Amino acid sequence: MEIAKTIQSVRALVKAARREGKTIGLVPTMGALHSGHLSLVKAANKQTDFVVVSIFVNPSQFGQGEDFENYPRDLKADAKACERAGVDVIFAPTVQQMYPRENLTWVNVENLTETLCGRSRPGHFRGVTTICAKLFNIVMPDTAFFGQKDAQQAIVIKRMVDDLNMPLEIVVCPTVREENSLAISSRNIYLTETEKKDSTVLYEALQKCREMIQKGVTNSRALITEMRSMIEQVPSAKIDYISIVDAETLQEVARAEGKILIALAVHIGRARLIDNILMDLRK
Ligand code: AMP
Repeated sequence: MEIAKTIQSVRALVKAARREGKTIGLVPTMGALHSGHLSLVKAANKQTDFVVVSIFVNPSQFGQGEDFENYPRDLKADAKACERAGVDVIFAPTVQQMYPRENLTWVNVENLTETLCGRSRPGHFRGVTTICAKLFNIVMPDTAFFGQKDAQQAIVIKRMVDDLNMPLEIVVCPTVREENSLAISSRNIYLTETEKKDSTVLYEALQKCREMIQKGVTNSRALITEMRSMIEQVPSAKIDYISIVDAETLQEVARAEGKILIALAVHIGRARLIDNILMDLRK
């Protein structure tokens, strides 16, 4: 496994793999790798011949007062995990490599970025789409792999790729959870043991919502009220949003019907946690 720190070196490695007729898979990450990330690597290894994992804590997707400085970074441990997982190249550029001067060109996906996390994190998705566009241009993968855990991100990236005719496929992989059902995230390290236990209420609320829908409750307000009251019983939890949206447009729906995304963001202690489930009620 190689660790490329410059754009030039990762391009050379990918070019050599291409010359051997290999297909290229890209797994974009911010590092502090965990089994969620490694599930994407596994999918990439299955579906492509040459796997690049990018590790870059992208400043442009962090808002003021967010955790850019404190975000966990451990390239040594990440390299070990990647090596074990059969990654071919880690691309770990510096901020200077990726943003050598003031960035004047931004990719902005409209509408889809104005709801859910976009509402509470203005500018976040503009940073995400811009860094992904840059990574796609640098690595030129056949396929890039994203996690369902960040559902809005996956939908926004897919739309960018479609709208701008970017020549790659986006694959979205299922959310990997701890044994206690908490969605695994690099930010879970901010949680104390008690907060970790508290955090299981997020998925419990989502599951309760799914059960209620399966039993015939379709009124979004009633469903959200139930989830809200479950989460509010946990003293350390501060709800950012709980929404039921159309899975394509990400607009709120009054009734749970069609293909919907039930999504929430909740602050627990120092961590802002997100989770979601997709339901296809079209049949
Ligand atoms: P991050 O390093 O948090 O930017 O995440 C990099 C990629 O890993 C994104 O596509 C995430 O959606 C994905 N990811 C993060 N956590 C999980 C998880 N628990 N299950 C599946 N994918 C995940």
